Amino acid sequence: MFVKLLAVRAKPLNSTPAADADVGPVLFSAEQIAARVQQIGGEIERDFAGSVPLVVAILKGSVLFVSDLLRAVDAPIEVEFLAVSSYGSGTKSTGVVRIGKDIDREISGRDVLIVEDIVDTGATLRHLKDYLGQLKPATIRTCSLLVRSPVGSEHEPPDVDYVGFEVASDAFVIGYGLDHDQRYRNLPYIAEFLV
Ligand code: 5GP
Repeated sequence: MFVKLLAVRAKPLNSTPAADADVGPVLFSAEQIAARVQQIGGEIERDFAGSVPLVVAILKGSVLFVSDLLRAVDAPIEVEFLAVSSYGSGTKSTGVVRIGKDIDREISGRDVLIVEDIVDTGATLRHLKDYLGQLKPATIRTCSLLVRSPVGSEHEPPDVDYVGFEVASDAFVIGYGLDHDQRYRNLPYIAEFLV
């Protein structure tokens, strides 16, 4: 009996959907992201040796990053999810941090690693550290795929323990989990959104 194999043509990973005029230049390719995620995974493995870190991944933007990051750590690690929103459907922060879905278990005495998609003013991360800090973890460290450059911004540079890449202060970015109005999270690269 013959099994018919279908040839599937793979789309080039860094192609920009031609029909989508909102997707601007690629800032970080899928290959650059993969390499950086491996490096951060190695650092986490080394820094948390002897402990089983509890990753608190912030939904929804960190979901692609955290799934790759977890696989880059070759040591016991656990994950919880917490949903927050600070942006509406636009590209400017409302400054209001709202917690949606909460974590599902105790974190007291644990070494917690908050994993974010992007830190802009740092308000969301500060809020999360305060919130989770009240639950008495042993330590809290922070990791963000992107941090907005403090150059040209009136904000203090946010204090983040593990940073993937820095983005220019005026670029609103999409892809690899980051959205604009819930779209573009599935792009395998990070691109500028053409506002
Ligand atoms: P912060 O509280 O640090 O000012 O803002 C952090 C949150 O704002 C992120 O978790 C993300 O949801 C959103 N954000 C900030 N800058 C961008 C951006 O360039 N692109 C996207 N998609 N979200 C952003």
